[in-house]
Amino acid sequence: MRAVTVLPGVANSIELTNVPEPPLEDGEILVRTLALGICGTDHEILDGQYGSAPPGAERLVLGHESLGVVEDAPVGSGFAKGDHVVGIVRRPDPLPCPSCASGEWDMCRNGGYTERGIKDRNGFGSERFRIERGFAVKVDQGLGLAGVLLEPTSIVAKAWAQVERVGRRSEWWSAKTVLVTGGGPIGLLAALMGMQRHLDIHVLDHNTQGPKPELIRALGATHHASAESLRDKQFDVVMECTAVTSLIVEAMKRCAPSGIVCLLGVSSSGRQAEFDIGGFNRKLVLNNEVVFGAVNANLGHYHMAADALQQADRQWLDRIITRRVPLANWREAFTPRKGEIKTILTFSE
Ligand code: BGC
Repeated sequence: MRAVTVLPGVANSIELTNVPEPPLEDGEILVRTLALGICGTDHEILDGQYGSAPPGAERLVLGHESLGVVEDAPVGSGFAKGDHVVGIVRRPDPLPCPSCASGEWDMCRNGGYTERGIKDRNGFGSERFRIERGFAVKVDQGLGLAGVLLEPTSIVAKAWAQVERVGRRSEWWSAKTVLVTGGGPIGLLAALMGMQRHLDIHVLDHNTQGPKPELIRALGATHHASAESLRDKQFDVVMECTAVTSLIVEAMKRCAPSGIVCLLGVSSSGRQAEFDIGGFNRKLVLNNEVVFGAVNANLGHYHMAADALQQADRQWLDRIITRRVPLANWREAFTPRKGEIKTILTFSE
């Protein structure tokens, strides 16, 4: 079968290669791939900056944002032929840390986890893949190819779950106003889940035209094209979804007293910005503010994400997917275009 593979650590090594059928050890459920979402992490892997192949292998099957249809599943597994499913990305450390042992592999403490299509495990970018019953999540078939948004939505679901947990450190605190930085897939999905919580959502994104501002407004959120219009504003929750250093600084400045800043973007190290650490400490301490990072998602977050997608407007979700590239033209899918939001590679209908 055909698979999109890379030599981790080697830039521009992406190829469509012939690989063996998925091994049984990957799981008892056989899935035919429908679509694969492409994100910033994939581009880092393509640039040779991130990712590792399974032990003993040279190449890594790329892809961690999946959508497929079950071809074969054991009776009693909870899955049946025809179900639409998405694969969970992370697997716990085989010698589990306390978090992994309790199903919170997203909070792994010793770095021994593996990730499909990213770290030491083949991904979902092949015509078929296998998955364990505990790491497959059903998605509403009515979502069609938008079901591929489940994985990025799980990241945002975790962020919201954690913000809400942090918020419970105070008896009275509840969020009303939210700033999301970035109108990419993560920013838009963060805004969506904020709107579903009936919050006052503001999204900072420099685009003044194209699908991003339109999608922000279609949600009922407020679009800000520059940080200037936020100067006199503070927000109970800030979700930083760009990893751009200047916006990370801006995110922390815009946090209201007792507020919470969640950092979701992964920057490259070495990116520097002028930053008043004394002033930051003073603001944080005197105002009881929290800044935290969040990565990955566990099963509970995938279920939260599935609910969020089900409640969302189907057309709005479809508009996040700005490019659908068939496998025959696979190389185009990995060449980003200006202004686009989510590109997906389609395997079969
Ligand atoms: C994925 C996460 C993963 C992270 C770090 C992200 O793109 O969505 O599941 O944990 O990269 O590898």
